[in-house]
Amino acid sequence: MSSTIRIRGARTHNLKAIDLDLPRGELVVFAGVSGSGKSSLVFDTIAAEAGYQVNENYPPFVRNRLPRWSRPEAELLEGLSPVVLIDQKRLGGNARSTVGTITDAFTYLRLLFSRVGEPHVGESNHFSFNDPAGMCPACAGLGETLTTAVERVLDLDRSLEQGAILLPGFGNGQYWYRQYAGIGAFDPAAPLRDWSAADREALLHREAAHRLSRDVPKDYEGVIDRFERIYLHTADNLSERKQAVLRRFTRSASCRDCGGERLREAARTARVLGRTIGEMSRMEIGELAGLIGQVRDPRVAPVVAALSDKLGALTGIGLGYLSLARPTTTLSGGESQRIKTVRHLGSSLVEMLYVFDEPTVGLHQHDVQSMIELLKSLRDKGNTLLVVEHDPDVMRAADRIVELGPAAGDAGGRIVFEGGFGELAIADTPTGRGLRTRVREREPRAHAGKLRVDNARRNNLRDLTVDIPTGVLTVLTGVAGSGKSSLAAEFVAQHGATVVDQRPVSTNRRSSPLTYCGIAPAIRKLFARRSGTSPKLFSANSGGACPACQGAGVIYTDLAFMEGQETVCEVCSGRRFSAEVLAHTVDGLSIADVDDLTVEEAVRRLPEPAIAGALRRLVDVGLGYLRLGQPLTDLSGGECQRLKIAKELSAAEHPTCYVLDEPTTGLHLADTGVLLQVLDRLVERGNTVLVIEHNLEVIRSADWVIDLGPGPGRRGGRVVCAGTPQQLLACDESATARALRATT
Ligand code: ADP
Ligand code: ADP
Ligand code: ZN
Ligand code: ZN
Repeated sequence: MSSTIRIRGARTHNLKAIDLDLPRGELVVFAGVSGSGKSSLVFDTIAAEAGYQVNENYPPFVRNRLPRWSRPEAELLEGLSPVVLIDQKRLGGNARSTVGTITDAFTYLRLLFSRVGEPHVGESNHFSFNDPAGMCPACAGLGETLTTAVERVLDLDRSLEQGAILLPGFGNGQYWYRQYAGIGAFDPAAPLRDWSAADREALLHREAAHRLSRDVPKDYEGVIDRFERIYLHTADNLSERKQAVLRRFTRSASCRDCGGERLREAARTARVLGRTIGEMSRMEIGELAGLIGQVRDPRVAPVVAALSDKLGALTGIGLGYLSLARPTTTLSGGESQRIKTVRHLGSSLVEMLYVFDEPTVGLHQHDVQSMIELLKSLRDKGNTLLVVEHDPDVMRAADRIVELGPAAGDAGGRIVFEGGFGELAIADTPTGRGLRTRVREREPRAHAGKLRVDNARRNNLRDLTVDIPTGVLTVLTGVAGSGKSSLAAEFVAQHGATVVDQRPVSTNRRSSPLTYCGIAPAIRKLFARRSGTSPKLFSANSGGACPACQGAGVIYTDLAFMEGQETVCEVCSGRRFSAEVLAHTVDGLSIADVDDLTVEEAVRRLPEPAIAGALRRLVDVGLGYLRLGQPLTDLSGGECQRLKIAKELSAAEHPTCYVLDEPTTGLHLADTGVLLQVLDRLVERGNTVLVIEHNLEVIRSADWVIDLGPGPGRRGGRVVCAGTPQQLLACDESATARALRATT
């Protein structure tokens, strides 16, 4: 295999015919401001050419619906090898997927129990909750069962006529209504509160109805019987609508047979070192690693060694606070990424190309070092690592840094630096300058009042009572797993704050910054006014659509069982509008040209104060480089979060509380200052802002810091220090304080 990856003339998205040679076997960090072209080069050119799967965890039918990666545009790409993409997409998965199953650690644990567990139970599949031989028959191995939340089904203040049965389909005039109101057994006009208790029971349950002295039809089915037959005891995949009904009228409870252990009785009784497999699965991985080391039986020495390796790797990467039983659906993006990394560590493949997207997300400074060690060990096995990253410590550890820039969008797409960290630190580039600047010191603001979080016991929190100051910026710090998210969730539960998270803003491919800001109607009116026609004409969803593609810009050919084909519409060349509409212009721009403007350009070029005003908020949160027509489904988690902040900045009239989770995710060093200004503006309007953050600059700028820990999981869940950043510095026990001291 060639010893160099050679790229010539790469032009994907904003790349300006980039040429680049990367020696294989190196750890390469790609830096640059947001929108400079890092993803376009690393993901959309190099990885796309090497042909990775979009996400190995999605079944093909879902993959078909994901946005398609555009073909890389380059004159030459050579020396590539198969790519493993390790991104921050949450592992998600279904209820059967746990940290143990996805890392294979549980497979080894099952082997251990099948060989040396007492009493002997059988093969290792008898310990699998995903195998009929092992799964608890009552809950089919899920550990939980759904039960009807009976108290939510009836409104006792209403009569049947007034819609006392709240389930869909049971109201007055609806499908099932006459099965209850029309059988003569119940008084449809009386509020249920005035019924006898026996009658109310009879309404809900068949057996209770047959105990009444009155006649009920032989085939009478109580409301709950019917609901459970239709919704719960059905093997069908339920529609979205039915699932919403389920969420509203049911609750899940620990399975009564297995108590949540998911396994048949025999598997629940076998013990190793005096513990059941369920107990071991619920222990923190770090503790389990210590326990497993005590198994001395030579029959299982290889199994114990393999399991210890796995658990050691998980602990080493800062995930020792998780348990093997933890469902993957509850993991954060950063935790998901670290699990994917561990999965590949055990792989014996060499000469692979690993591509990482900000592996330090969610990591305390203290854990960043373990992540770096892990990256190096992957490299030392003979692999090549391409890492998109903003963290200076990772840059310092790289063999080579490539910076894209100098700015975003059209003003970027060039290589402005290539070399080692020492050179970058003195380079006159955005990243070099970012490494040398510090957010200016300032006096903490005085708080207006406080909101008390009382007796918080969520997850690992130890009956915590803590005051959150109002009207200021408070940062929650602590190592991963120390309880920051748990405390934030408890604050939201007790005081009702607005959570500005990193989840996708929209799953609709048609939503864009233009539709999100609500300026689409204003733009259509502007065009209508200038051209003396109707605003309707300028909507690709109605009047003005290209007749060939109906305004989609692409023609989609569905190939039944194969991947569908999407081709750009030949009539409008993907511009979505009819030729007649495109002929109308405002200051030289057609309606389709507007989609291609960046937010920054639009502020300058669209002559309409209302439009510019709405867009300026996006510039304020550092999103000026987005194109107006760019699908929001393309945005990263950090970008989604900043978009939501922009919306809050324009919406909120009354002061309120905001909770943000790591808003610096995906943010270049140079933009941290911009983000801080935005948070300051929220505070200046009287809002209370609570931020989970590892970024030391943000911590230094806080008015108040609540440091949780001292360790993760069971070794955390306490307030180590609460005070101003200055007061935190003096705290000996705090890992955050140590990191702050190391950089001041
Ligand atoms: P970075 O990863 O450095 O933040 P990107 O590579 O994502 O930057 O973006 C570089 C430029 O390419 C930006 O102007 C962005 O708007 C544009 N871009 C990104 N994705 C697409 C896409 N799917 N189609 C068209 N332009 C895109
Ligand atoms: P942080 O935000 O500081 O990383 P978290 O609040 O997410 O920490 O986690 C604190 C502890 O609670 C950890 O031990 C974690 O494993 C546990 N935990 C968090 N979420 C869940 C959950 N949904 N189910 C079970 N345990 C959880
Ligand atoms: Zn069960
Ligand atoms: Zn068309």
